Amino acid sequence: MPDSAVWDLVVIGGGSAGLVASKTAAGFGASVLLVERARLGGDCLWTGCVPSKALIAAAHEVHSATRSGRPATLASSSASFRTAMASVDRAIQTIAPVDSREALEAEDVAVMTGDARFTSDRTLTVDGTEVRFPAGAPRDRDLTNSPGDRRGRSRAFPHQRGLLGADRAT
Ligand SMILES: Cc1cc2nc3c(=O)[nH]c(=O)nc-3n(C[C@H](O)[C@H](O)[C@H](O)COP(=O)(O)OP(=O)(O)OC[C@H]3O[C@@H](n4cnc5c(N)ncnc54)[C@H](O)[C@@H]3O)c2cc1C
Repeated sequence: MPDSAVWDLVVIGGGSAGLVASKTAAGFGASVLLVERARLGGDCLWTGCVPSKALIAAAHEVHSATRSGRPATLASSSASFRTAMASVDRAIQTIAPVDSREALEAEDVAVMTGDARFTSDRTLTVDGTEVRFPAGAPRDRDLTNSPGDRRGRSRAFPHQRGLLGADRAT
């Protein structure tokens, strides 16, 4: 279990949204805990974007091979649903490391496995373990106004008239 007395940010869910949010916040120097109860990667990796595009690519290969009459790796006389699903699985396994715990931890995001449930506006439990976070945005540290983060990246604003002087939340 990662240990931080009070996390700057607790992200519930390691799908596309949670992965991007947690890595971005950690990149700005926030202490971030991501809680996932099932599989890191969420719908996009396991049932959505990745498998659907891999399946479409497999179908394209079959289609163009069939039309041109040339042999294809997938579209042969033995082309089958099982073969197509194997290529879907390969696509998932290729991308899964990008969304893994190791990849998150390498970007300073701590990961907890379990079901998150709010118990107050500053606490939640993950399978019975209490996790604390500040109520609202951290007031003691302006993460957005630092000239550069730990990796040397810095904010950039579009030079749009009126925007630089505007009061912004992020
Ligand atoms: C067939 C299909 C194809 C798609 N293709 C594309 C595409 O090509 N491009 C594209 O941009 N989008 C695509 N999408 C949409 C994309 O998959 C979703 O927009 C995306 O997965 C949403 O991500 P998310 O992080 O909001 O939610 P999810 O991916 O659903 O992740 C939520 C995560 O939160 C976890 N969670 C929920 N509650 C808790 C809790 N209390 N405690 C702990 N963990 C919790 C869940 O286990 C889950 O892992 C596709 C969707 C489908 C179905």
